[in-house]
Amino acid sequence: MKDTNCIFCKIAAGEIPSKTIYEDGTFRVILDISPATRGHALIIPKAHYANIYELPEDMAAAAMVLAKKLALHMSEILKCDGFNIIQNNGETAGQTVFHFHMHLIPRYGDDGNQDKICWNHLELSEEELEGICQKLRQ
Ligand code: AMP
Ligand code: ZN
Repeated sequence: MKDTNCIFCKIAAGEIPSKTIYEDGTFRVILDISPATRGHALIIPKAHYANIYELPEDMAAAAMVLAKKLALHMSEILKCDGFNIIQNNGETAGQTVFHFHMHLIPRYGDDGNQDKICWNHLELSEEELEGICQKLRQ
C-alpha cells in the first residue's frame, strides 16, 4: 500500500535518501530533517496510513514496541536526560506529513526547548470534567 505523492512512502521505500537508523520489513526509522534535538527520529511504517485512525491495531502495537526499544537504545547511546514520544494527527494537532509517524525526541538539560513539549492548561470546573468523563465512558 503506497501513495505515489507521499514523501514518507518514498523515503520508507528507499526511493528518497534518508538518514536511516533502523529498518525492518515493516518500519523505517530516520533522523528528522529539522530536528527538535540531537537524535530526533521518526518511526515510519513502510505502508501508507495517513494517521492513527487509519493505522491497523497490530501496526500500532508494533510501532509502540519499536518506540520503547529505540527509546532505550537511543538513550544509552546519546546519553540524553529524558525522552519524548509524540505523534500528531490532523493539521489542527500539528501534523504536516500525512503518513503516520511517531516522533522520538531525546531530551537534554540544555536543549533549549520547554521542559514539556508544550500546551496551555485549561481551567475546567468539576462539572465540566465530569461531563467530559461521562461522555467518554459511553
Ligand atoms: P509532523 O508535523 O508530526 O507531521 O512531523 C513531520 C516531521 O517530518 C517534521 O518534524 C519534519 O521536520 C519531518 N520531515 C519532513 N520531511 C522530511 C524529510 N524529507 N526527511 C526527514 N524528515 C522530514
Ligand atoms: Zn505515505
